Amino acid sequence: MTHFKSLFLSLLLLTTCIQAAQAQFDRYFLDKTMRFDFYHCGDAQHQEYFFDELKEEPYWAGSKVSLIDNTGYGNQLFKIIDKASGKEIYSRSYCTLFNEWQTTPEASKIRKAMPESVVFPFPKNNVRIEIYARNRKNVFEKKFEQEISPDSYFIKKFTPQYETFEVAYNGNPATRVDIVLIPEGYTENEKEKFTAACQVFAEEFFSYSPFKENATRFNIRAVWAPSMESGVTIPGEHIWRNTTAQAQYYTFDSERYQMIEDFQGLRDIAAHVPYDHIYVLSNTQKYGGGGIYNFYGISAAHHPNRTGKIYVHEFGHVFLGLGDEYMGNVSYNDMYPLDVEPWEANLTTLTDFDKKEWKKMLAPKTPVPTPINKKTPHQLGVYEGGGYVTKGVYRPWPNCLMNNLHTIDIFCPVCSKAIQGQIDFLCK
Ligand SMILES: [Zn+2]
Repeated sequence: MTHFKSLFLSLLLLTTCIQAAQAQFDRYFLDKTMRFDFYHCGDAQHQEYFFDELKEEPYWAGSKVSLIDNTGYGNQLFKIIDKASGKEIYSRSYCTLFNEWQTTPEASKIRKAMPESVVFPFPKNNVRIEIYARNRKNVFEKKFEQEISPDSYFIKKFTPQYETFEVAYNGNPATRVDIVLIPEGYTENEKEKFTAACQVFAEEFFSYSPFKENATRFNIRAVWAPSMESGVTIPGEHIWRNTTAQAQYYTFDSERYQMIEDFQGLRDIAAHVPYDHIYVLSNTQKYGGGGIYNFYGISAAHHPNRTGKIYVHEFGHVFLGLGDEYMGNVSYNDMYPLDVEPWEANLTTLTDFDKKEWKKMLAPKTPVPTPINKKTPHQLGVYEGGGYVTKGVYRPWPNCLMNNLHTIDIFCPVCSKAIQGQIDFLCK
């Protein structure tokens, strides 16, 4: 009896907390999206932000309870501050293509600007947006701030131009993770091909743990935004296509890295449905794609045998910024400085390993670093090599879906637990 009573009391407490948080949302926000567009500019050493415009979008798909981001993830962070009280009322961390570009050799020679954008629930009153970036020691420093008046008649209203459809619907977007699928390089008469690719995405996505067990906590919708030409742009092969999302292979001169620079253009398409995360299906068999935390993911939708693994791998980047556990094969310099603990849940430099959840999950007396034993490939440890380098960065399993996609079809326990944590955070 006592047990039931305490269960009842804790449920009551939980319900009260959620109600209080929801009241907080209703006090400060309307049930639609405000979008802040800007340009992220600079070079290897500097980054600056320049305002572009404000937009109003029709749906708010995010949690109305988890308003403050306490994940510790991301290279960038924005906060919305209520002007009257000075209180932080919303925040989200994220990563950007610009920050990746900063680690390429090109960024030491030229300066560049990329269109970026953040979204938050539409504020009722005047607010201030603050944007933070991590410094060399991985500590967030404020780089930009600007006041926003939600009454301004310059806030651009949204005009829908594409039809949309549901791929998997499981309920209220506020308590679901909402994925929007966007077509790249499908022409007007390839609609069936795209629709079929969306179905395959959902089937594949929900066949991997822990997404499988959490399937009812996701919604998947698609926007039918056809391209003028069929196929994809591959600069290294002199192939250029007029496509809706303007994706390109050879991003940072890495052949399989297919990315999109115009993130604002992508958001214009995504805004047709309620969404938390954007995934672009590209009309090609050519292996490749990419994913950036709280930004977007993209990959080849017609690769002959690995589409599903690529989807969940890239979504691992998009959803919670999991790091790549593999070595080499990219054009970044010094992505993970060896004297700083990376914020990614599944990578460590052993600089501050104690604060990682991963450390608590290790069996007692696990040797660090852990030698690879081929007989126990699923022994949780601290294996040297990861984050694109062979020395000084460590990963939790010899091989995981965030590593090599050829021989494995499960996430390591560290990645799985972190994914579960993020689902719980966003579905409150
Ligand atoms: Zn992993």
